[in-house]
Amino acid sequence: MGRLIIISNRLPFSLDKEGDKVNLRQSSGGLVSAIKSYFENASAQRPEITGKMWVGVADFPQEDWDQLVAAKAAEQDFGILPVFVDKELYDNYYNGFSNSVLWPLFHYFNSLANYESQFFDAYVQVNQLFAEKLIPLLEPDDQVWIHDYQLMILPHLLRAKKPDATIGFFLHIPFPSYEIFRLLPTEWKKILLQGVMGADLIGFHTYDYVQHFLHSVKMLLGVDSYFHNLQYQDRLVRIDLFPIGIDYNKFHQTVADPEVEELRNNIQANFGDKKIIFSVDRLDYTKGLMHRLSGFEYFLDRYPEWKEKMVFILNIVPSRDTIPAYNERKRMIEEKIGTLNGRFSTIAWQPVIYRYTHLSFKELIALYQAADVALITPLRDGMNLVAKEYVASSLGKGVLILSELAGAASELSEAILVNPTDTSDVASSITRALAMPLYEQRNRISLMQRRIQEYDVFKWVNDFIDQLAQVKQEQQKQK
Ligand code: UDP
Repeated sequence: MGRLIIISNRLPFSLDKEGDKVNLRQSSGGLVSAIKSYFENASAQRPEITGKMWVGVADFPQEDWDQLVAAKAAEQDFGILPVFVDKELYDNYYNGFSNSVLWPLFHYFNSLANYESQFFDAYVQVNQLFAEKLIPLLEPDDQVWIHDYQLMILPHLLRAKKPDATIGFFLHIPFPSYEIFRLLPTEWKKILLQGVMGADLIGFHTYDYVQHFLHSVKMLLGVDSYFHNLQYQDRLVRIDLFPIGIDYNKFHQTVADPEVEELRNNIQANFGDKKIIFSVDRLDYTKGLMHRLSGFEYFLDRYPEWKEKMVFILNIVPSRDTIPAYNERKRMIEEKIGTLNGRFSTIAWQPVIYRYTHLSFKELIALYQAADVALITPLRDGMNLVAKEYVASSLGKGVLILSELAGAASELSEAILVNPTDTSDVASSITRALAMPLYEQRNRISLMQRRIQEYDVFKWVNDFIDQLAQVKQEQQKQK
């Protein structure tokens, strides 16, 4: 094996300019920290990896790269290959096709999909820019791992020029049922599927997403599968599930972090003996915030004995606020919170404490640990890392209420699983969680912790890379 080349929409850092000072600020997010830690440890674990490189769109212009960033980037222990994309083109590709067509459709919000042809054209063009940048650099024993829905055509574009390349593709969002996928214009859906099928190994979070993908491939490309394998254009392609994990130790170690402890104590002291229900989500219609608030309102109506005995700390993290569907949601959510607090507050108590902001890592963990209940009810979610982080950070108590429509539900069966649109189910789950005996909380948390610890994000990366090498070997045997 030669180099490991990671390709994602964005590079794992942004440029931070402060007067004459230039810094590279690492992006937040599970994938970036996972792959960066993997890169740091890979040399020891896998001497066969001879080099590491990350390819992605730069959020700074070419001249900044030439003058400021390239030298800094060279200090990293992996190579960086920036792709420069003109602002308007990027907007049509990212806010347009990726986030106004694929994102809503793949999360079953088909009425929000905006099938503009200029979006699709830009998507193809940006995938081509990635291909053009990479093709001249690819060496025969490189392993290429392409991430997510912004780059679905790239595997095919690389394969067309480099037929023997080793290419993996992983989708971080759900792959929808064929009945949803088929809503895409005919030509587009074929191009997308053929695009992904350029890879040797295609990974999804859950068994259902794998099945949906295989069904679409059968219906649209006429290819049958046998035990997760397909024979496509005389090449073996494997489709499998790899439920992404988190860096378990990073979260679990915070149990003994004095700074987190202080933050946690402050939060708890603030609310006295009131129980704390907590949630944190990006502002996104897929997260089910309106339904969650309706469920919480139903809970207050139906179980008035809990009034003044608990609070709901609702954190929303700003996201994609240039897309109209997102801004609209924010207004609706804030109105609903206002109405709810107006209806139920007393002089001494307010049921919902709302914040619209980014949280620091330690603040987030302190909230995870202070919360008696985490209320995580997306309408659809590829995985939902917050659920896993809540469990990993737990001091041995706490109850997770989790939507059965989040990918994480298939691994976290000891959570209280709810249908997020069923307000009475959400409400009764909240009372059940608030009243759950400590021994039962401990039992459920520790079972889930064990599972999350076992298949952490490093295992996930290793597993994918091992399987990719295996598929390649099996292809060789077929020749
Ligand atoms: N997160 C963050 N800043 C915050 C709150 C949360 O970076 O202020 C992180 C959180 O720790 C988690 C990620 O954002 O790793 C959210 O991932 P998830 O899979 O739950 O949802 P996504 O936002 O990817 O749809």
